[in-house]
Amino acid sequence: MNHSNVPFFRPSIGDAEIDAVTKVMRSGWLTTASEAPALEKSFEEYLGGDVHALAVTSATAALHLGLDALGVGPGDEVILPTLTFTATAEVVRYMGATPVLVDIDPATLCLSVDGVRTAITPRTKTVMPVHFAGRACDMAGLRALADAHGLTILDDAAHALPAKTGGALIGSAAAQADATAFSFYANKTMTTGEGGMLIVADADRAARSRTMRLHGIDRDVFKRFTDTKAPWIYDVVAPGFKYNLTDMAAAIGRVQFSRLSEFLDARTTRAAIYDDALSDLPLTLPPHAAPGDMHSWHLYCVRIREDAPLSRDAFINAMKDEGIGTSVHYRPLHQMTYWRHLVDKGKFPNADAYFERCVTLPLFMSMTDDEQARVITVVRQILS
Ligand SMILES: *Cc1c(COP(=O)(O)O)cnc(C)c1O
Repeated sequence: MNHSNVPFFRPSIGDAEIDAVTKVMRSGWLTTASEAPALEKSFEEYLGGDVHALAVTSATAALHLGLDALGVGPGDEVILPTLTFTATAEVVRYMGATPVLVDIDPATLCLSVDGVRTAITPRTKTVMPVHFAGRACDMAGLRALADAHGLTILDDAAHALPAKTGGALIGSAAAQADATAFSFYANKTMTTGEGGMLIVADADRAARSRTMRLHGIDRDVFKRFTDTKAPWIYDVVAPGFKYNLTDMAAAIGRVQFSRLSEFLDARTTRAAIYDDALSDLPLTLPPHAAPGDMHSWHLYCVRIREDAPLSRDAFINAMKDEGIGTSVHYRPLHQMTYWRHLVDKGKFPNADAYFERCVTLPLFMSMTDDEQARVITVVRQILS
């Protein structure tokens, strides 16, 4: 029996990624040139060619640019789940708008569509679903609701590369969302260290985001130095941001992107092994994708049931004592000091109940059979 430690996550970076980034570093051009646009093109093709992809420095930047493209501003309300990372809500504040938190549907751990319906007011502008752990939200239900009230949808797809809803990839169509944000943070389903991708359905909005990504300048930085037009000619049309992805990061991203299905297969297999091995324990296992859809299995989040011999906190400590990393996704936003004071009080019984009992087990692309067997053995030991 292997008694070595198992980390919560370990990135999968190979020689191909290292060679790709080295090549960019030797080229003499470190910032955005050809690698980032190539990564964007890969995303557009993968998502069906009907959307525009913009490589950016993080998913947080993508969400910020997305809200800007959708025209969210002071006085507007944006509906999002309380069970998410703070980035989903903070970008709403960047725009001077108000986040309106909604409880989760306990069956999917995603934004409750009924909860959204109840939260809509004349000030509501946009809905931000989060595909929790990689289980896609009910985008058809949300789209119908949004259309009926003239709202836009920006999905936080930081967990959902790739995932499917209604048989279509998250980020692939305006029929689902007006804009979508993917994350390339170190522990996401592909990484550039830090990075992200904004997907925009509408061409005019995408043009706005492209300008705002780089200081509100109307030509991108590389063209400024290669166009036949005088290189010093550019105009500033808005107070933009500095969110372009470097070619060093994009080069890593292109290799990681080529391994997306290999990564997905590895995680899907690991999730199925956990499902089989843990089903008889006092655990609530993660919700699966709807029939015909795809779960990205970014996270494997279980709940310690009431009939378990110990609490969630005690479980985490017992795992730590055995050298196994775990995490908690998430302490709901309405329980956080900043959001508690800012956000209009509501009741979030499903998110509160979830948080009391949730724990995320290690699941990553390079996890070995021995590592997963060790996690299963320890979980079984602790819970029996
Ligand atoms: C990771 C994450 C983000 C932020 O992604 P960055 O690329 O680090 O900005 C946003 N929302 C959710 C749900 C996340 O998990």
